Amino acid sequence: MNQPAKLEAVSHPRTIERIVSGVLTSDGAGVKLTRVLTQDLQQRLDPFLLLDAFGSDDPDEYIAGFPDHPHRGFETVTYMIAGRMRHRDSAGHEGLLQNGGVQWMTAGRGVIHSEMPEQENGVMEGFQLWLNLPARRKLTAPWYRDIPSDEIPGYSTAEGVAVRVIAGTSNGVAGAIQREDTEPLYLDIDMPADSLFSTALPATHNAFVYVYRGEVTIGGTKLAEKRMAILANSPQADGVAMISTGPAKAILISGKPLGEPIMQHGPFVMNSKEEILQAIRDFRDGRLHDDPAR
Ligand code: MN
Repeated sequence: MNQPAKLEAVSHPRTIERIVSGVLTSDGAGVKLTRVLTQDLQQRLDPFLLLDAFGSDDPDEYIAGFPDHPHRGFETVTYMIAGRMRHRDSAGHEGLLQNGGVQWMTAGRGVIHSEMPEQENGVMEGFQLWLNLPARRKLTAPWYRDIPSDEIPGYSTAEGVAVRVIAGTSNGVAGAIQREDTEPLYLDIDMPADSLFSTALPATHNAFVYVYRGEVTIGGTKLAEKRMAILANSPQADGVAMISTGPAKAILISGKPLGEPIMQHGPFVMNSKEEILQAIRDFRDGRLHDDPAR
């Protein structure tokens, strides 16, 4: 954590366009989770495709994990607030994601991987975000990085707001990951009672906030725990500002829209139906991660 940061001025903060509750569902081999960013919001929140929030102290709700499954055409970002998850993939990567760590995986042309809890009890809590790749990079080589908690840059403000910068740059602090095509900003913001947090955001970027403890106020509108706010894109808005009454924790995510067609079929996200059918054939034929140039 850096020296206390002075917040950059935000003169026209964004307002809330819409509040979303998400959908309770289960995925993998039966992991209970809340799908906060659902398929119907992919166009609105381009370049983001999905946000799942998981959190339980009941092993029955997470222990089955996510056995071997494929991905193609995008990146997955898993942020573990609490708990331990073992990752193994067909590109030969293996890692243990734990308390406060991030796993950033570029599926590109394809990986088959498993994400399995490595604990038999206790709390498992975190998020998985899907970030799209531009059409010209959808079939790039798979890439993977585990970022342990102590390698995630951060800063704190004079009021005691502690910010972890997973991706992008906030108030002059560069995060662990930078992506030039989609310019994602991914912050975890821990606010004491009666504090203010603000950060600059390009007006054209799509942005949302999910509160996972307490509640915050954004542009005069209250955002309750376990709710996501889609932030309005007004041309003069230069950032986001949020105020806490009690202690609160939230993630703020924004990115530059790709403006390309989005075609999702389960774990494959491409630009056209033909590319989806190709992904299904490649997976069936065991050629998902073959280099198309060879
Ligand atoms: Mn996966």
